[in-house]
Amino acid sequence: MMGAHHAMTGAAAWIAVTATAGHGLGFFPVSPAGTVTGALLCAGAALLADADHGSATISRSVPVLGRLVTGGISRASGGHRHGLHGLLAILCAWLLATGLDRLSWQSPWSERPVDVGIAAASAAAIAFAAYALGLAPGSWPMAWSIGLVGAGGITVFAPERPDWFIVCITLGYGVHLLGDLLTTGGLPLLWPWVPKPPRAWRKVPVLNRIWTSGGHLAVPILGNAGSLREWALLIPVTLYVGYGILFAALAEVGVDLAALLY
Ligand SMILES: [Zn+2]
Repeated sequence: MMGAHHAMTGAAAWIAVTATAGHGLGFFPVSPAGTVTGALLCAGAALLADADHGSATISRSVPVLGRLVTGGISRASGGHRHGLHGLLAILCAWLLATGLDRLSWQSPWSERPVDVGIAAASAAAIAFAAYALGLAPGSWPMAWSIGLVGAGGITVFAPERPDWFIVCITLGYGVHLLGDLLTTGGLPLLWPWVPKPPRAWRKVPVLNRIWTSGGHLAVPILGNAGSLREWALLIPVTLYVGYGILFAALAEVGVDLAALLY
């Protein structure tokens, strides 16, 4: 799946999980403002798994340093679509988010501690999302400015629930893997154990696309990454995100969009 598509599906997943008013499932309800800020963050979290990709959005995020860091991650995790694309990586994302969530700093000027871990991770994740979604066309300084403003917004309008940050990062990470699972490349879900299918299996037409000769697992209903089907799926997903954000933004100022429409 392409970067912008990962970001959009991440935003959609957060809205689906947190919104309660008709268009959401409400598994983890948050305030309308929390729906908006969390959607931005979840869009960025849905890009993290491709940090193992030398030419991915993330690697271009900071001149030189971005490429060095992603190059290092890529080598450590075995290359693109290896360690960072397995179920174990979701557990690591959860652990990392939990660590960042607990990272706070009691400044001498404010009454309550500042969540510096959440703020720093949010600035980076939103900068990635803004760049991937084309909100800062070709300009990283612009993307980072959006990231900083977004992180400021999150500090003020964060969902009031504890653990929202951990749920948001883990959800975004998981949605990325789900998106890739639906393409022909598939995923080494059980990495570092990547069993390859027996010879006979590789000759059976449909089966050899579900368990590939390289040992990846796939449910390739979207075809190749960036396919026409992937673009077609993104149209309703984008409309859903647009509706969800608008609904939440209006609800925040006391307007019920559903009542206006029907
Ligand atoms: Zn990926």
